[in-house]
Amino acid sequence: MNEPNQPAQPVKRFIAGAVCPACSRMDTIRMYQQDGVMHRECVECGFADSLDERGNSIPRELPTRVSAKPVTKPASSHVAQFFPNPRLKKKDS
Ligand SMILES: [Zn+2]
Repeated sequence: MNEPNQPAQPVKRFIAGAVCPACSRMDTIRMYQQDGVMHRECVECGFADSLDERGNSIPRELPTRVSAKPVTKPASSHVAQFFPNPRLKKKDS
């Protein structure tokens, strides 16, 4: 084993008992830290996400099943609305 210890290659550790949220397998999750951010990846299905400083999951790949976490919409979401052309509203009756 002559693996060079390069800083660009973070140490990936398997998390004992961790269950992959994508394929529900156990002990397939590896975690590593890169640029101060924790990353997870599943060696079975390729699922990968990151953890922000609060420990929230930031998915990097679309999960195969619907996420259980509801997406909270921002209150000031700008919705593009279709306005019917007022000229077409002319009643020709
Ligand atoms: Zn998986």
